Amino acid sequence: MKQITDECVSCGLPCLGNSCPNVNVVRWYCDDCGDEVEPEELYVTEDDEELCQDCLLNRFKTVKQKINEGGYNDD
Ligand SMILES: [Zn+2]
Ligand SMILES: [Zn+2]
Repeated sequence: MKQITDECVSCGLPCLGNSCPNVNVVRWYCDDCGDEVEPEELYVTEDDEELCQDCLLNRFKTVKQKINEGGYNDD
């Protein structure tokens, strides 16, 4: 998910407000584990979830497991 945070720490005293580069900092978080992720490392799923690489891989593992459990047994 995208979040805009105010990270100004008494930059200019007084702060420049909206033109302060630290007031509207865009941060990206994984929708699953909640970790902060660089935007280029964030993956959007078909369900519009934004996941980090780890969680994405976990999803794929789970899907694979489900397919295996469902059993494509054609012997
Ligand atoms: Zn500021
Ligand atoms: Zn994650």
